[in-house]
Amino acid sequence: MGFLKKLFSTTPEALGDSGVYLYVKCTNCDDVVRLRLEPKYELVSDQSGYISNKIVVDSRCYQRMSAAFHFNQRQQLESAEIDGGELVSEADYKAAQSGSSGSTPV
Ligand SMILES: [Zn+2]
Repeated sequence: MGFLKKLFSTTPEALGDSGVYLYVKCTNCDDVVRLRLEPKYELVSDQSGYISNKIVVDSRCYQRMSAAFHFNQRQQLESAEIDGGELVSEADYKAAQSGSSGSTPV
């Protein structure tokens, strides 16, 4: 574990976009929120990897969703628990952006 900390503290900011993008759908109104996590600042290490807690607010019904994202040692998303929402893919996000008032089957 020690070497990881060292690595992190000496890594310059010049890595480009190191952000992790996550997509959360509000189960109340189906709006999809794109979330950007900065691993350096927003991932907190725990026993099995990393965790990040976020409050996500969508832009349609403004529901506050309390989310906990779990990452493995390589900072890859393993699972997510979202109160009031669910994790979706980038494709779902794009679909929500482009055709929100389209032909949605009821
Ligand atoms: Zn909503």
